[in-house]
Amino acid sequence: MSKPFDLLIVGGGVSGSALLYLTTRYSDIGHVGLLEKYAAPARVNSLHSNNSQTLHCGDIETNYSLDKALKVQRAARMVERYATAQPDIDHLIFKYPKMVLGVGCDEVARLRERFETLAPHYPHLKMLEARDIARIEPAVAYRDGRPRAEEIVALGSEDEYTAVNFEALSRSFVRQAQRVPGKQVEVRYNQRVRHIKRQGELFVVETADACFQARSVVVCAGGHSLKLAHDMGEGHHYSVLPVAGSYYFTPQVLNGKVYTVQNDRLPFAAIHGDPDVMVPGKTRWGPTALVLPVLERYNWETMKDFLRVFRFDRQVADVLLDLLRVPDIRNYMFKNFLFEVPLLRRVLFLRDARKIVPDMRLRDVNFAHHVGGVRPQLIDKPNRQLLMGEAKIDTGKGVIFNMTPSPGATCCLENAEVDLRAIAAYLEATVDDEALARDLLDQDSPHGPEDLPARLIQ
Ligand SMILES: Cc1cc2nc3c(=O)[nH]c(=O)nc-3n(C[C@H](O)[C@H](O)[C@H](O)COP(=O)(O)OP(=O)(O)OC[C@H]3O[C@@H](n4cnc5c(N)ncnc54)[C@H](O)[C@@H]3O)c2cc1C
Repeated sequence: MSKPFDLLIVGGGVSGSALLYLTTRYSDIGHVGLLEKYAAPARVNSLHSNNSQTLHCGDIETNYSLDKALKVQRAARMVERYATAQPDIDHLIFKYPKMVLGVGCDEVARLRERFETLAPHYPHLKMLEARDIARIEPAVAYRDGRPRAEEIVALGSEDEYTAVNFEALSRSFVRQAQRVPGKQVEVRYNQRVRHIKRQGELFVVETADACFQARSVVVCAGGHSLKLAHDMGEGHHYSVLPVAGSYYFTPQVLNGKVYTVQNDRLPFAAIHGDPDVMVPGKTRWGPTALVLPVLERYNWETMKDFLRVFRFDRQVADVLLDLLRVPDIRNYMFKNFLFEVPLLRRVLFLRDARKIVPDMRLRDVNFAHHVGGVRPQLIDKPNRQLLMGEAKIDTGKGVIFNMTPSPGATCCLENAEVDLRAIAAYLEATVDDEALARDLLDQDSPHGPEDLPARLIQ
């Protein structure tokens, strides 16, 4: 067995790699390791094709309260500050116009009201009237060559960073961490962690062919984090509901990101259309929301891992029944099953997409095969609740487990900051607050540990 790591990170997606970077760059923790089960970083949800590539700032996400919007805004700015300072900025972060579209008088009224609330906090946000929409996104504003009949407005901006290749970002974090002088950084691929156990003062992390010792461990393994937590006797009050997202491609009809107003009774965001940063000349549509019994999309071997963490019991059944009792959710879940039926799915999806582009034609809509990951939504069993954002189990004893559905990729650096501070306190190490604030936080942004979003400190 090699010399113990001060911190060993499990999982090389955007969360684990962000923590690797922050730890090496902004603390005096000297020996840091990362174990990833695949042969490269970000092969699961952070893969460029498995998420919507949106840098969520909170302004056009109508399902976010002002409080949540501002927390996400801080997190998004950290990613923007990091990415725009890199030499390969053009591969990491992208500027597109973005908007959330309101169709019909109810949605229009909601957006006007939301604008009043958000405008003081979002200087670039504009109320876009039909003529502005026509200028930015003609395909949204017209039907058969004439302005569409329904009343439309949008909230949006035109000159902001709105998209990120989170896979490229993960690789960048790993590369930059390995370049920090005076630090011992070990990144091991093809190492699937089977088990973590405590042995005296240390943790022993076992993979198929090696055993690693560490003074502290942070698990950023998506849905598998909960499995590793359960194995250690932690987090049994959580179960997981994996919600897969599928996408469709059409020829390019949009110039930027067009979201739609969220139905408050539905837990998952309404579909949107936008450019795919890796597929020029197309517009990508989605994601749908289909409950699937796997922890990784297109990997049925992870079904047995799902069954181990799902732990179906009375409390889980209650949460699922509560969801199914709401007619909107029941219909939505049923519709999402139909979205997976070949032929039928294109017809059904076309109906939804026409809310954004009224002239869209069936022959233009193609299912995007092998695109889209799985959101590991946690079920809080004692509170009979499906949790919508990221969740963390911090044992306070040197091991932390992160579960990261959307907007987990946007929140990667902020989430890593929370973990870094917790691990630094545990190891009695020091965080370079000044450098971190200078590089990653805005001058007017709150940046003491006490200001970190409470939602991440659970
Ligand atoms: C359809 C969809 C759309 C989304 N859209 C957005 C969006 O627009 N914006 C946004 O901010 N977020 C979005 N998200 C969420 C975002 O993709 C995730 O929050 C983010 O990628 C999670 O990163 P992660 O590193 O925590 O997990 P992952 O990227 O899943 O990485 C986990 C890593 O752990 C590794 N691993 C797992 N088990 C083990 C083990 N036992 N041993 C070693 N390694 C292991 C995996 O191989 C993987 O590399 C979306 C998610 C989905 C599914």
